[in-house]
Amino acid sequence: MRAAVIGAGPAGLMAAETLTARGVDVDIYDAMPSFGRKFLMAGKSGLNISHAEERGVFLSRYRGNALLQDMVRAFGSAEIVDWMARLGIAAHTGPTGRVFPEMMKASPLLRAWLVQLQESGAVLHARHRWQGWDGNGALVFGTPVGEVTASPDVTILALGGASWKRLGSDGAWASVLAAKGIDVAPFGPSNCGFHVEWSDHIREKFAGAPVKSVRLWADGVETRSEFVITQRGVESGGIYTLSAALVDELQRAGTATLFVDLLPDTDLPAIAANLVRPRGKQSMANHLRKSLGLSGVKLALLHETADGALPSEPEALAWLIKAVPIRISGTAPLDEAISTTGGVAWAALNDGLMVREVPGVFCAGEMIDWDAPTGGYLITACLATGKAAGEGASDWLQAPSR
Ligand SMILES: Cc1cc2nc3c(=O)[nH]c(=O)nc-3n(C[C@H](O)[C@H](O)[C@H](O)COP(=O)(O)OP(=O)(O)OC[C@H]3O[C@@H](n4cnc5c(N)ncnc54)[C@H](O)[C@@H]3O)c2cc1C
Repeated sequence: MRAAVIGAGPAGLMAAETLTARGVDVDIYDAMPSFGRKFLMAGKSGLNISHAEERGVFLSRYRGNALLQDMVRAFGSAEIVDWMARLGIAAHTGPTGRVFPEMMKASPLLRAWLVQLQESGAVLHARHRWQGWDGNGALVFGTPVGEVTASPDVTILALGGASWKRLGSDGAWASVLAAKGIDVAPFGPSNCGFHVEWSDHIREKFAGAPVKSVRLWADGVETRSEFVITQRGVESGGIYTLSAALVDELQRAGTATLFVDLLPDTDLPAIAANLVRPRGKQSMANHLRKSLGLSGVKLALLHETADGALPSEPEALAWLIKAVPIRISGTAPLDEAISTTGGVAWAALNDGLMVREVPGVFCAGEMIDWDAPTGGYLITACLATGKAAGEGASDWLQAPSR
């Protein structure tokens, strides 16, 4: 029995591992010259591979998607820690429950994984861009030496989402599947940055500045975090946590508001009491710096949203400090998003992740239409769906009724 796994990100590699463990011969194809490029990029500032937290909270990150929740229940953070240990990579769990490989980077893990896959008999084919099926149902690949075809007994597609195209996942597969009659939802950005029409002052002086230790909220979702001011808006950290809420609000209302509590550890009366103190000849900026420690980018944000004229009444100013409104005008480009929504509709797949319209073809990873926040939940779902698709494919190969 021979399987083709197309897409060598975490979902495809886990599908391949699952198949080889069940005695299936596997060819792994990827369009890029090397494997797992987005996985390596994810590890650049620490590969947050999963999240250790109470199971109910963990499952709630997958937004009521029962089938996906079953898959991450079967292969969640504890299982990922055990799996890494089998590859010789110890795990480190941070104070907020984020799980990383001990060395933080993805490269040692990826290296060990590819060695293990090859030792299990998997054959790796880089520079093989899948283009679809020919008239006989064979897989067609574009390669540096021309077109090649393959006719495996089963195929797993793990082609990724549609962001960071230079790393391989360009979403071009969507039109191939749609032409086959498979329901593919349009791509949208998730865990993404947002546009804000900043003044020249903010753009010139504060682009790139982190806004640390704040409380952020939007559309009923809240987080204690930090974020970064960009030329065109806001991104990273807490912004990614709120991105689904901000996208929903943008879709509903055309604009959205991000609220920032600049002093989350000080309550409103205490701030107002500080502001009441006479400031003498001090400028307001000096008064805010000395009495409340507000300066730099935080002070600039306060001025920005107050149109330069801060409220003179202490309580009104305290309210503003506790809830600085930032008007969001749109999302940053899709290609810059950490992940994308949209892709193969769940209704197009059976419970083993086989495409209903094309028996023998399975899907895994970010190319399926699900969403989750950053914090390790994305790669966890890719690994879990990769495992489920590998199991579904090997069960299907062995089914007597096939
Ligand atoms: C900067 C950044 C940081 C991130 N950090 C984290 C993090 O810390 N934690 C976390 O959980 N997630 C993180 N993510 C998200 C995570 O990396 C992705 O969700 C995950 O890699 C998706 O896995 P996948 O296997 O589904 O797809 P991918 O990893 O995108 O792999 C898909 C593969 O398919 C190949 N492919 C595509 N089309 C074709 C074709 N036609 N023919 C052949 N091959 C093809 C691509 O070359 C690619 O190798 C981050 C993402 C980015 C961009």
